[in-house]
Formats: sequence, structure tokens, C-alpha cells
Amino acid sequence: MTSASAPATTILSSDLREKVTRTAHGWDGVAPDEHWAAEIRRLAEERDATILAHNYQVGPIQDIAHHVGDSLALSRIAASADTETIVFCGVHFMAETAKILSPDKTVLIPDAEAGCSLADSITEEQLRDWRSEHPGAVVVSYVNTTAAVKALTDVCCTSSNAVDVVASIDPDREVLFLPDQFLGAHVRRETGRENMYVWAGECHVHAGINGKQLSDQAEAHPGAELFVHPECGCATSALYLAGEGAVEEDKVKILSTGGMVDAARASGSSEVLVATEIGMIHQLRKAAPEIDFLAVNENASCPYMKMITPAALLRCLTDGADAVHVDPVTAEAARGSVERMIAIGNPGSGE
Ligand code: SF4
Repeated sequence: MTSASAPATTILSSDLREKVTRTAHGWDGVAPDEHWAAEIRRLAEERDATILAHNYQVGPIQDIAHHVGDSLALSRIAASADTETIVFCGVHFMAETAKILSPDKTVLIPDAEAGCSLADSITEEQLRDWRSEHPGAVVVSYVNTTAAVKALTDVCCTSSNAVDVVASIDPDREVLFLPDQFLGAHVRRETGRENMYVWAGECHVHAGINGKQLSDQAEAHPGAELFVHPECGCATSALYLAGEGAVEEDKVKILSTGGMVDAARASGSSEVLVATEIGMIHQLRKAAPEIDFLAVNENASCPYMKMITPAALLRCLTDGADAVHVDPVTAEAARGSVERMIAIGNPGSGE
């Protein structure tokens, strides 16, 4: 990376910038061709920026990024990057987490309106009320939460370590687990913990991948492995199918997005059914091109993730927008809950 960094507010020039338009669905007007790719590389260099892309981003954004991964891995890469600016191609809570872990860096998101239905399923006020109903309870939050919710959290967790985090808590203390009900049900099943209360939140994309779709696909592809994200509505069905002998138990893998990439590299299967957001398949095909990856639900596409368009990334790098801000008091409290998770070990991967 160059040492000549541009402040976040600097407007850098590109002949493509005037083609960028705002539509009801986000920034549009630029095709991800070779000229676009060359401009993105040049602008990132001029802005001294590292581009990070989540596994659910569209293919061209994943391909142009310096790093692709899950939310927590990318936030940790952001903290160790040697550039002044981080461009986070993902949804807003992910860019906030990067800012929490890198308070001295400029963190940009190509479209600040890229939200998350799961993170929005619990507000700071709702968590305050819930805590007051359970004094003394330990609050465990999945990383898909806003900075304000993380600041009221005792310890964060990822889908990789949620079971370990809950198991590490004094069995006599109540646990409030949020915001995802499917991940919560998975943790309760694995730990057998009865004094654990689960918030009834869900991601509308993952909840839309259901047990019927999974059993139909498993029946149509009898030899296939199943990679299932624990946020999915079908996670319970996958375990049920295995328990009933409908699919071989060792073919069902409940995995975070980062875990899916590792499992793909290690898999000897010729066919894998994937139950998560469909952007994930781009990265899996790159990791293991010899495997045929099939989406359990081809319509499971996150509209927020897809707001990070080629046009949005170009505008972000030229204009230095949208900047992500987290007030220092909230950031410090939120950082504590993330660091306590890392201290427990095996932070693995977020979404
Ligand atoms: S896929 Fe679901 S959990 Fe992930 S960013 Fe989209 S809405 Fe949020």
C-alpha cells in the first residue's frame, strides 16, 4: 500500500464517477468490467485503503477485495491492516465491529443503508428492559448486533464458539442469549442448559431456508454432504434428518461461513448442499472447484448485502463515503464484550 494516504473526505477523481446514480435499491450505473476493476485498484491505492468483502457479497466485489471472509475474521484483519482506511463491503453492524476494533482507522462502508434484519431484531432499549427482568443474568450476544447492543453485553459469541461461550458460564447463573432464535436453540440443545432464555429474533433470509426444502434436496441428492449455517430455519431439520437416518449423520455439518470454506477444502464429496445465503457459493467454488455446490434455496439472497454494488464501491473510494462512526464510550464497552469472547478462545467465525 502507498504511504500517500487521502483523508476520508477527499474526493478522488474517476471517469466512472459521473455514471453512478442513486436508485430505490441503492447505488447503480456502473458495470463490473475490467475498467471498473482497474479504477477500484487505483483508487484503493490512492486512498491507502484495504478492501474487505464478506462471503455474501456479489462475485465481482469478492473478486476485487484484498480479503474475503466472515464478519469477525474481517474485523480482525481490519485491526491489523497497515492502511489508514478500511472499506468494509458488508452490512452496517460488521463495519461497526471493524471500527470498534480499529478506533484509530477511517472505516468506510459503500452504503450505510445496508442494514441487517437480525441485528435490527433487538434494540438497546429492549435489551435494557430484558436485563432488568433478569437481574444477575449473563448477557450473551451473537456478533450480528449493533454496537449499542454489544455495549450492554457481557460476552459476544460467534456461530463457531457460541456453545463454548455459554458452557463457560457458571451453571447457576441465568443466561440471556440474543438475538437469533435458531442459533439459540442449537446452543441450548448442545449444552442442555435450562436456565437460558433465547430472544425470538431471526434473519429473514436464513429463516426462509426451511426443513421441507432441505429434505427435498437431500432426497434428490442422496450422496451429497449438507453444509448448514446454524442461523437457518432448517438447522433443526438437518439434525432431525440425521437422527432419523434419512441422511448419514457424518454428512451433516453445522458450520459458520468461515467453517464452510475450511470444510469444502477438506471434503472428499462430489456434491454439497449449502444452506445459507447464496453469495457463499462463490467462495466455496473458488475453494474447491471440483465439488458441485448446490443452494438448498436459490432465492436465499440478502438484499442488504446486495446493496454493496460495483457503483457503491466506486463512489465509496472516490468520495470517502459512507464513514462509520461509533461514539468512544459505546465503542469501549462494546470492545470489552468482543475481547471477553476472544479470551474464552476459539472465536472462529461470525456469520
Ligand atoms: S443474511 Fe440475514 S443476518 Fe446476514 S446480513 Fe442479511 S439479514 Fe443480516
